[in-house]
Amino acid sequence: MAKLDTLLAQAGSWWDEKTGAVSMPIYQTATFKHPALGQSTGYDYSRSGNPTRQVLEELMAKIEGGCRGFAFSSGLAAIDCVLQLFKAGDTILFSEDLYGGTYRLMEKLYSDRGVRAVYTDTSDVKNVEVLMNNQVKAIFIETPTNPLLKCADISSISKLAKKYGALTIVDNTFLTPYLQKPFDFGADITVYSATKYLAGHNDVLAGIAVVKSPEIAEKIYFYQNAIGAVLSPFDSWLVLRGLKTLSIRLQKQQANAKKVATYLRSHDSVKRVYYPGVGAMISFEVESLSVVKQVLERVKVFMFAESLGGVESLITFPKVQTHADIAEAVLERLGINERLLRISVGIEDVDDLIEDLETALG
Ligand SMILES: *Cc1c(COP(=O)(O)O)cnc(C)c1O
Repeated sequence: MAKLDTLLAQAGSWWDEKTGAVSMPIYQTATFKHPALGQSTGYDYSRSGNPTRQVLEELMAKIEGGCRGFAFSSGLAAIDCVLQLFKAGDTILFSEDLYGGTYRLMEKLYSDRGVRAVYTDTSDVKNVEVLMNNQVKAIFIETPTNPLLKCADISSISKLAKKYGALTIVDNTFLTPYLQKPFDFGADITVYSATKYLAGHNDVLAGIAVVKSPEIAEKIYFYQNAIGAVLSPFDSWLVLRGLKTLSIRLQKQQANAKKVATYLRSHDSVKRVYYPGVGAMISFEVESLSVVKQVLERVKVFMFAESLGGVESLITFPKVQTHADIAEAVLERLGINERLLRISVGIEDVDDLIEDLETALG
C-alpha cells in the first residue's frame, strides 16, 4: 500500500478514470437516477452517499487504518453522531480540559438524556483507573488537550477500557494522522474537527469520525444518515484539497512552533509555556489581564480569532472565546485563567511571528 504522503498528495486523483480528472470532481447533486426498478448506481440520495464525500471518507479510513470513515458538517456534528452510541444510564469519562463545545454538548444536551459525563486528568492513567466501573461505556480523550496541551497515553487507557468493555474515543484534531494514529495504540474511534489541520486553510467547517470495527461502523452510518449532518460535496472537496498538503503544512507549522515556544520560554514577562514538543499549538501565561489585552491589541501578524490549525497564525483567549461554557471554578483549577493565551502557529516566516510577539509583549 502507498505510504501516507502519497495517499494524501493524490487524494481523489484516481476516482474519475473515464475522463482522467486529477482533481476529484464535485458531485453537486442531491439525487441520482436509477437505471431500473430495483437497480442502483450505488448512489441514491446525497445524504446517504455522495462520491465526493465518499472519497474523503474512504481516504480518512485508509490513512488511519480504520474500517470506515464518515464526514460531517462540523467537528461537533461528528462528535454528536458518535455520542449517539450511548444511552441513559451510561457514563463516559472525559479528559478534563476538553474542547468547550464538547463539554457544552455533554452538559447541556446529553446529561438531560441521562448520559453521565465524568471529567478527569487523563494525562495519568491512574486517575482514569479509579473511576472505572461497569457503567463506564467509553473513555473520550483529547491528546494533547485543549488548551493546556496535556498528553495522554492512549495505549494504557485503551487497555484499561477494554478490561471494562468500554470504547476508547480519541479527539485527534490537534495532531492528525500525520503525527498520531490512535488506532495503532488500541483506540476504537477517532473524531476530528476537520475545520482545523485536516482542511487547514480556515475556509471550511467540517468533521470526521473514523471507526475500527464494522459493527460500530454500521451504527454510525445509520446515525449519520438518520440525523443528516453530512458534509456537502463542495466542502468535501475543500477538505480533500487541504489534505493533499497536510504533511508539508504540519512540518512547517511544527518547526515554526518549536522556535516560537523556545522564544516564549526565554521571555521575562511570560510566566509559563505549555508546549508538548509536538504539533503547532502553544499556550502561555502572562502576568495579568492587562498584558493579555495589550497583546491582543498589538498583534499584527497573528490574528486575534478563534480556531486553529490553518496556514494563518491565530491567537485566542481561551477563557472567553472557546471555554466560556465551563464553570469558573473548574477553569481556575485547571489553569484556564484570565492570563492564558493560546496560539496556533501557521506557515508564515517564523521571524515575523517572533517579532510580532516581541512587539506585542513589549
Ligand atoms: C474545534 C474543535 C472541535 C469542534 O469542531 P467544529 O468543527 O468547530 O465543530 C472539537 N474538538 C476540538 C479539539 C476542536 O479544536
